[in-house]
Amino acid sequence: MKIICIGRNYADHAKEMNASVPTEPVFFMKPDTALKRGREFFYPSFTKDLHYECEVVVRICKVGKNIQEEFAANYYKEFSLGIDFTARDLQQKCKEKGMPWEIAKSWEGSAPISDIWLDKNDFNLNSLNFSLELNNKEVQSANTSDMIFNINQIIVYLSKFNTLKIGDLIYTGTPAGVGAVALGDILIGRIEGQEMFQVKIS
Ligand code: MG
Repeated sequence: MKIICIGRNYADHAKEMNASVPTEPVFFMKPDTALKRGREFFYPSFTKDLHYECEVVVRICKVGKNIQEEFAANYYKEFSLGIDFTARDLQQKCKEKGMPWEIAKSWEGSAPISDIWLDKNDFNLNSLNFSLELNNKEVQSANTSDMIFNINQIIVYLSKFNTLKIGDLIYTGTPAGVGAVALGDILIGRIEGQEMFQVKIS
């Protein structure tokens, strides 16, 4: 199983990162050991600037390569909500040196995911509200209609490079409002008001 993450997929987030808005999807991968279920999240020792990035996550349900846009929706049935945790200090160093992002993004446990999976037929995935609350204060709130590349376009693009397999997860990018967490913080993610996860930073 692979975890593919889309970067800079919301213009307001690209702006807050002082990054350009991409003309093609930007992606990177996390290993399967990055996936983290459950409430506890352990602050890693190698960063001093750990940031949350709340993201809608799609699970691939069918094997496909070179998928055409008109068929892309057949390759996922369920979606959920997760966090693409990022060691922002390490990422900044990588960016400055033009190095890959793995040490900042792809470490063990860096991708918490909800236990709840929603049926795409019950929602409009192209106009879905989701949010993240940090210690009772809403810090991220967005609608998937603000994505630069929608889910079908992402699938078309990713499947040019790799076969998508059943169970692969796509983190579809984060909106503006990313920020640092500290020990004891509690993050609550919601889709259309429904609580999807609670994560405590330990
Ligand atoms: Mg992200």
